[in-house]
Amino acid sequence: MKLDLLLRNADIITMDERRPHATSLGIWQGRIVGLDEDLDGLEAAEVLDLGGATVTPGFIDAHCHSAWFGLGLGELDVSAARGLDELYTLLEAEAAAQAGTDAAAGWLLVTGFNQQHHGGEFPEITVLDRITGDRPLLIRHNSGHMAVVNTAALRLAGAEAASFPDPDGGMIVRDVAGNPTGLVEETAQQLIQRLILPYSLTDLESALERATRHYAAEGITSFTEAGIGGGWIGHSPVELAAYQRAAARGKLHARAQLMPVLEALHPTGGHRQDSPGAAPSGLDLGIATGFGNDFLSLGPAKVFLDGSLLGETAAVSQEFCSHSHKDNTGNTGYFQADPEQLRTEIEAAYAAGWSIAAHAIGDRAVDLAIDIIADCERKYGQRDVPNRIEHASMTRPEQLDRLAAAGIAVTPQASFFHEGGDGMTASLGPERLSWAYRASSFLAAGVTLAGSSDRPVADGNVLRGMQAFVDRRTASGALFGNPAERLTPRQALAAYTTGAAAATGTAHLKGSLAPGKLADFTVLSGSPLTAGSIAELEVLATAVGGRFTHRALPAPQSGGTAAALQRL
Ligand SMILES: [Zn+2]
Repeated sequence: MKLDLLLRNADIITMDERRPHATSLGIWQGRIVGLDEDLDGLEAAEVLDLGGATVTPGFIDAHCHSAWFGLGLGELDVSAARGLDELYTLLEAEAAAQAGTDAAAGWLLVTGFNQQHHGGEFPEITVLDRITGDRPLLIRHNSGHMAVVNTAALRLAGAEAASFPDPDGGMIVRDVAGNPTGLVEETAQQLIQRLILPYSLTDLESALERATRHYAAEGITSFTEAGIGGGWIGHSPVELAAYQRAAARGKLHARAQLMPVLEALHPTGGHRQDSPGAAPSGLDLGIATGFGNDFLSLGPAKVFLDGSLLGETAAVSQEFCSHSHKDNTGNTGYFQADPEQLRTEIEAAYAAGWSIAAHAIGDRAVDLAIDIIADCERKYGQRDVPNRIEHASMTRPEQLDRLAAAGIAVTPQASFFHEGGDGMTASLGPERLSWAYRASSFLAAGVTLAGSSDRPVADGNVLRGMQAFVDRRTASGALFGNPAERLTPRQALAAYTTGAAAATGTAHLKGSLAPGKLADFTVLSGSPLTAGSIAELEVLATAVGGRFTHRALPAPQSGGTAAALQRL
């Protein structure tokens, strides 16, 4: 037997308890054949001396939005603006740059807005109208849970009049006179998005290529796309086809697990015995969670139960404390639909074979998620791909054991601490701050903790995410939430490897470097277990199935490897 690739002289952190460390790794046909002495006597088509560089399992982002991120890479990004005047200047410059081009006939699309960058202030609709005139404008909020539009956009949506009713689970925010301020929250965004959607498969394919190239450069080898095919998060009813096309054409540079939104599911029929209980609701032909291969597959169905902490729309048990941009008296957030309706829809999906990924940020939404999922598990059984609670941002102490007992995985994003930590601290107040974005106490309770970013909602860089799990620093330098929730570097690495693999039902394939597993790995300039700053490590190379998706390796230090390096 001749190996395809042999890594040697490496500091290999396997994340496999049976053999935690190695210095060489052999790969054949996209899989790991063995480590160290397993490889004695084996030749390799390519030998790569890593000069002591660190190798970890490939990073897994268990919750991100790649199409959204990739599309945003092609839009005006205002995330660097500090103060509304800077934001207005960027808008003016973009509108002027596009004037006279084909683009000027369509929407002005802007990404990266966060009121925390502007002292809690939102853009004035009168100023936006002056800049854009009759051209419709959509400024996406980083959270995805709200957006800012101009009067032209509201007019196109038919929602300009003071008498226009708010949709269920959303709000067109108005001033005291009843005029729209331009802020549209939650489901009200669909009034605008339905004017823009669907994106073409060609545009989505390009967006996925841009996004996953970026992932490769950051060491990411797998990701879970948290919502496709409908709702406010989807981009096309045939969105999966964009992934399939990108994968077939070699433009998808990381393995993808896709979560269709619950709205994309519909009654499917079938034999009565197939789903004793609720009438099943799924995708045509009975396709469900787990369908696909180790490169592209279907994950759980994604359902939104509540909103966001940043937007103070999450369903919490006690009212929000801040009064910076709205009166929060009595505001405990809201569910995105009637809870009984959500329960019925989720059970119908579960009955059709879907695992559930429930977006629940507030502790009141976490209660609802646990209730519904545990009930489905009792009626229809556990799932190979675990049920999950997305974000699980506010969890009361007694909810930990319930999560563990139900085998529900969680994805609390450490990437939120830096940008959102100070704002969330103000919104939540001191008394329940220790419930916010748990990490260590999830692990102690036996809850599967998956690393994830929610990119582009937050920074998607995994090394910075690991650093954030370890130090929990906010933009102001404060320590976010409970100091005891800080993870060790090894626990932080586990979140993005073994933890994310377990949460995505792929622990038998990835998350650790062991014989038989997929040869997905990341080469780093130093060890995240001992580095002074994990965030400052460099990603030297990334490989998916033993093939490099990214490489920035320094010149070889010992002889005999130059030819191999050049062939990468
Ligand atoms: Zn998300």
